[in-house]
Amino acid sequence: MEIECRKGLRKSFGHLKCFGFIGGDPLFCIGPHWPFFICLFSFLLITGLFFICFISPSIGSSNTITGVSVFCFLLINFLMAALINPGIEMRTVRDEDLEPDDPDNFCSICEVYKSYKTEHCDDCGVCIQEYDHHCPWTGKCIGGGNVNFFYCFLFGLLVCFLYCIVTLAMTAQEKK
Ligand SMILES: [Zn+2]
Ligand SMILES: [Zn+2]
Repeated sequence: MEIECRKGLRKSFGHLKCFGFIGGDPLFCIGPHWPFFICLFSFLLITGLFFICFISPSIGSSNTITGVSVFCFLLINFLMAALINPGIEMRTVRDEDLEPDDPDNFCSICEVYKSYKTEHCDDCGVCIQEYDHHCPWTGKCIGGGNVNFFYCFLFGLLVCFLYCIVTLAMTAQEKK
């Protein structure tokens, strides 16, 4: 099956701004809702630093090391979900196993042929492979390219929340 792509160092696809390219494919993209991403990233970073610098040391060094580990895991996965290419569809040739006359197989806005599970996002203005949803907090879509990082981020969020609760409870216990 031959697949042609709209290669070339295009700096933007729809409302996504791209940078870093591998073989003409964008590696990183910033979405239209990037201010939400900056706000959440700053909040998580400040909360993490506050806990690690001021609250964790009173429990002990192993608690501080745990805090650094869980917050690094959270922030790295959040950064990857927010920055990596979510899977911009760039096919200019239709998949042979798709119906030739089905208008749903072609996006007239992006002028690309969609593959299975590809959907057009109105917020991002592009077609995304294995489209999951548009997430304002990462600033753009969650698709095949970044969905695993997104789930790791959600898992990290839960772990960090539990870490903060346990650390606060232990600090309160120490002061009694
Ligand atoms: Zn489209
Ligand atoms: Zn989107």
